Amino acid sequence: MKILLILTGGTITMVRNATTGALHPADLETFKAFVPELFASDIQVTMLPFSPLVDSSDVQPSDWQRMARAVYDNYADYDGFVVLHGTDTMSYSASALSFMLENLGKPVVFTGSQLPVGVLRSDAKENLLTAIEIAAAKRENGEAMVPEVSVFFEGTLFRANRTTKKNAEHFEAFDSYNYPSLAKAGVHITYRTNLIATPKNAPLRLHEQLCQNVALLKLFPGITEPVVEAILTTPNLRGVVLETYGAGNAPSSDWLYQQLHRAVERGVVVVNKTQCSTGSVEMGKYEVSLNLLKAGVLSGFDITTEALLTKMMLLLGEFPNDIDKVKQLLQKHPSLGK
Ligand code: ASP
Repeated sequence: MKILLILTGGTITMVRNATTGALHPADLETFKAFVPELFASDIQVTMLPFSPLVDSSDVQPSDWQRMARAVYDNYADYDGFVVLHGTDTMSYSASALSFMLENLGKPVVFTGSQLPVGVLRSDAKENLLTAIEIAAAKRENGEAMVPEVSVFFEGTLFRANRTTKKNAEHFEAFDSYNYPSLAKAGVHITYRTNLIATPKNAPLRLHEQLCQNVALLKLFPGITEPVVEAILTTPNLRGVVLETYGAGNAPSSDWLYQQLHRAVERGVVVVNKTQCSTGSVEMGKYEVSLNLLKAGVLSGFDITTEALLTKMMLLLGEFPNDIDKVKQLLQKHPSLGK
């Protein structure tokens, strides 16, 4: 069994600077010395480190392209892929890759840790070694057990584009509020195969074009027209994630309707995403969401902000001149990956 371990950075790859006390990425040899178990099993692990390793706050869409390309270029040579990544933006990167890699038939498991790899109580080893085991796991028919992009953290495996980082302190750092977990790792790893994607019977396709002309507009009581206008009239803006209240509700003020309506008329795709973690947008349920429907705002249903932003970037990059296609694909269920 062969696994490609793609190291991008994050706490899992970091050590503490003795003088400043700040965490920074370790060099590869130091990292390897902390996890000798990596090379002591019958799973053959090859390392592909990004240079330099970065804190995930510095990860950009160009890095998602490098990660996706690393999987795509090495696809035939490995049974599975594990991506070591900082937790802060892991859900964005993992969501992006779930859309960029179409027809995936092999596992791509993201993991990281809350404590650096060299620290005694670190969760790094447990997360890393189990992620590798998951990436190598096969079904009875020889197919990969988890042929999709996933996030493994603190004993739980999630569908990547359903995750959100929820905790900066506890080891249970991630959650998937609107889709059940795919596996639990205790003494045994228990897979919920009925919830896991089936491998696609088609060649892997890489989608690399990403449009960064998108914005996130979070509503709050007291938000003013100039703030909304400044965002919606950003030069070259193509897409907006509108974070609303509850079941997708917004203030019923006429100026908000006018601003959104004008943006949609200019060809900006606006998608309604609730600020709640759990549950779905249901425009039309309350009167206060009727204006959004009238303005041409689309429903994001129960998607996460991370998945919606990255899916928008990908669709606007892939179909820059076909706004109807972008809108149509944005309405497809996120748990299907695309
Ligand atoms: N700041 C770190 C990062 O995201 C946090 C972590 O890895 O947990 O790279």
